[in-house]
Amino acid sequence: MAEIDVLIVGAGPAGMAAAIEAGKAGLRVVVLEQHQTPGGAIFRQAIADAPAVRIPPRVAAIRHELSAAFAASRIETRYGHVFLGIDSDGFVLAEDRNTGAFVTLKAKSIVLALGAVEKILPRPGWERAGVSTAGGLQVMMKETGRAPAGRVLLAGNGPLLVAVAAQMAALGNPPVAVIEAGDPFRRFAAGVALAAFHQHLAVEAFGYLRELRRHRVEWQRGATLQRIERDGEGLIACVRNSAGEIKFIRADRIGLHDGIRSNEFGLAPANARGPLVVHAGDCREALGAEAAIADGRAAGMRVAAALRGFTHAEPRELTRLRQAEAILSRLFAPVETAHPLAALPDDTVLCRCENRNVGELKALCGGADGLTGREVKHHGRFAMGSCQGRFCADNTAALMAHLRPDLPAPQARDLTGTRWPIRPVPIAALAASGVGQAKEQEI
Ligand SMILES: Cc1cc2nc3c(=O)[nH]c(=O)nc-3n(C[C@H](O)[C@H](O)[C@H](O)COP(=O)(O)OP(=O)(O)OC[C@H]3O[C@@H](n4cnc5c(N)ncnc54)[C@H](O)[C@@H]3O)c2cc1C
Repeated sequence: MAEIDVLIVGAGPAGMAAAIEAGKAGLRVVVLEQHQTPGGAIFRQAIADAPAVRIPPRVAAIRHELSAAFAASRIETRYGHVFLGIDSDGFVLAEDRNTGAFVTLKAKSIVLALGAVEKILPRPGWERAGVSTAGGLQVMMKETGRAPAGRVLLAGNGPLLVAVAAQMAALGNPPVAVIEAGDPFRRFAAGVALAAFHQHLAVEAFGYLRELRRHRVEWQRGATLQRIERDGEGLIACVRNSAGEIKFIRADRIGLHDGIRSNEFGLAPANARGPLVVHAGDCREALGAEAAIADGRAAGMRVAAALRGFTHAEPRELTRLRQAEAILSRLFAPVETAHPLAALPDDTVLCRCENRNVGELKALCGGADGLTGREVKHHGRFAMGSCQGRFCADNTAALMAHLRPDLPAPQARDLTGTRWPIRPVPIAALAASGVGQAKEQEI
């Protein structure tokens, strides 16, 4: 079988757009995706016969156009494949979850379009059962067509919270409240700028707010979730409102969200060595779905141009969408300006996988010399668990920088490192593959 020209990892908007573009150049393109369907985070498909979650008309139109073009391009797809990394010989390593086998693939170029992960700030009690990410609840709704059951509280920062709240309301179980650290109503200039600059986003946001109002969902702005406790009746959220008063809200589940960031954990920088490697979409810069499509298209053109030997112009849309994202950040900037990790009690869990807390990090960092991110990982097991730092490396690095301003500020990358496997893989799959004597598997 012909060698793969372009291997695209991730069938979200960026990966799909990159595949369509590279396919137009007559190249052999293969898309690898861990799920069984394309769509990524925003266009996650319902499983079996579950009803589809309502999405804004403009987003539905974008999905329809992209999905139709992807289907028409007849790109080869390998679903149920988890990308694990690129080894030093340039082989792409993956786990085929359909068979449990470890596979190695060789391609002339690779587009990594792995999307974003949610940022979550630690709060005392966030490790309790019943606490998840708001995006996780949204994915569940998209897959099942049902709102999460019981009393649900959403808390954190950013526009995703109101989107999830509105989708829950439309599915018949509005959240008991939305606790938002920012206060977009106070950022008048940014609101006007968004309406003028990206009218569609403003319209989408008003649609969500209208849905919340219709269902009388309280959107508490300038408020923060201080801690989460549990009693016989479920979870108790301790919330500080914009007036500084402490209020308690009962819930069965709490969805946390503090923004999104690129999912580039463990990845070597693009073009570090071996085949041409390009990062695309939220995996390169988390700017939202429209930008992911534009960036994916650019990545597809870039690899096609490199392999076919022609030149291409970078699309200009990204600059505009980057500006829109910057306006959104200003609009949702947290009202409280104190360091969000500085006042955490010592027993607050920082790394949920390994159950490591703030006090343990302080003890590690308190020595005369201080420790590097890598040392904190190896001595303290921070970012060592199954999420491999996706939820704790940023927070651990930020707290280390706060605790030791006398030392160079560590980055999340110092804890997570750049090495494969980027995701846990069963030892049995590795052993059966004879990895180390990497072999190409024709697909
Ligand atoms: C939880 C969450 C909820 C969001 N909700 C909204 C929303 O409501 N509205 C909105 O406008 N934007 C939302 N966004 C942002 C929006 O989804 C993204 O901007 C857009 O989907 C980015 O497209 P992408 O292709 O870059 O990444 P994604 O859409 O995330 O696609 C990445 C793909 O890569 C696959 N992948 C990841 N790792 C591996 C691996 N190791 N092996 C194989 N495959 C892998 C994933 O399964 C996924 O299909 C959300 C983002 C997140 C993280």
